[in-house]
Amino acid sequence: MDFGKLTKLYPILEVEEARARILAGLTPLPAETIPITDALGRVTAQDVTAEYDIPPHANTAMDGYAIRAADTAAASAEHPVRLQVIGDLAAGYVSDRAVAPGTAIRIMTGAPIPPGADAIIRFEHVTRDGNYIEITAPVPVGKEVRLAGEDVHAGETVIPRGTVLRPQEIGMLAALGRKEVAVARRPRVGILATGDELVEIDAPLGPGKIRNANSYSNAAQVHKYGGIPVLLGIARDREEEIADKLRVGVSHGVDLILVSGGVSVGDFDVVKKVLAAEGRIDFWRVRMKPGKPLAFGYLHLSGREVPVIGTPGNPVSTMVSFEMFARPAILALQGACELDSVTVTAVFADAVATKDDRRHYLRVRLQEENGEFIAHLTGDQGSGILRSMVDADGLAVIPADWDHVDPGVRVRVILLGSYR
Ligand code: AMP
Ligand code: MG
Repeated sequence: MDFGKLTKLYPILEVEEARARILAGLTPLPAETIPITDALGRVTAQDVTAEYDIPPHANTAMDGYAIRAADTAAASAEHPVRLQVIGDLAAGYVSDRAVAPGTAIRIMTGAPIPPGADAIIRFEHVTRDGNYIEITAPVPVGKEVRLAGEDVHAGETVIPRGTVLRPQEIGMLAALGRKEVAVARRPRVGILATGDELVEIDAPLGPGKIRNANSYSNAAQVHKYGGIPVLLGIARDREEEIADKLRVGVSHGVDLILVSGGVSVGDFDVVKKVLAAEGRIDFWRVRMKPGKPLAFGYLHLSGREVPVIGTPGNPVSTMVSFEMFARPAILALQGACELDSVTVTAVFADAVATKDDRRHYLRVRLQEENGEFIAHLTGDQGSGILRSMVDADGLAVIPADWDHVDPGVRVRVILLGSYR
């Protein structure tokens, strides 16, 4: 089919519409129950509700003395109040004695407030004199007391369904007494690289050849967002070979397939043909740079319909397309509530032309200066310059109707995240 016919058949979409069309066909995968020690980065499949209060009992926030606040009402430097110390209480134990008027119990952080006491005075605020302490100022009721349930109340939903589990949620699950958690199964994502020029990492680099980078950047991205990458290798630019490798992917039970390369309008861009022959094309082309020739559709193989995202082969295009489309798809397959990337506002440091009528995603390094983020371009922004990603903290989003960006202009930056 010639280019004119193709462009009529497949009108170019805005990023949001393309994304919505990909997400529309996805339903969350079934849940599985796993130990919380394996649950980092997984997405909860059920609300997690507290069965008891945290903390379960009122306790002291400080090392000091448990007292009755009323005993200290008249305390002053000239007339200190003297209280008799009648016991010692460590965290993990319950006092068998009550704090009666005129007395105090020495107490360590985390120990339950003894009966009768309603405030804690810190060690450093009293003078110890044998079996007595002296207090020189009134202590208010509740001072240094952590109330039962002040963190979490019994019955409260603490971690809603669809939450990506971070270290803090894992800690909360442990505090709630949950050894295991129900999460969505990890999506299996097939990754196929296409191109006669590609060789594997360890193969000799013959004349005219380059190494397959995309499968590995994509696999790492899949991993990062909770999926399991299933590497399907390299296919030459031939329909049968691409179709064969996709069949292998489907036979491995993949939930989504990423194909890089072969979706432009060159002589050997055959991925669209395979999609049309073995399933259907939903859309082709998105108004963005890099990443315009993105193709999306479904494979109908072995009685299954498997979504396929075909990204352009340039290493930056593949990665940026992944962030914009495959990332939310992988999160949606896990039932995640929040599909948008984290963004910050930054002051652009450079001058750059963004003439064509597409949204640009410029790779930037962020630096903080005077309380603001400054976004510096990471050098040459060619879609083949993988270095521009290596040096980047984020993608500056430049609206399609801007034809240039000037230093000092504020832009939105999608954070790529890091493991530091
Ligand atoms: P294509 O989208 O197939 O026209 O490829 C665009 C550019 O990306 C070409 O220069 C390809 O050589 C390059 N390319 C395609 N696939 C890969 C890959 N897996 N790793 C690195 N570069 C690639
Ligand atoms: Mg190619």
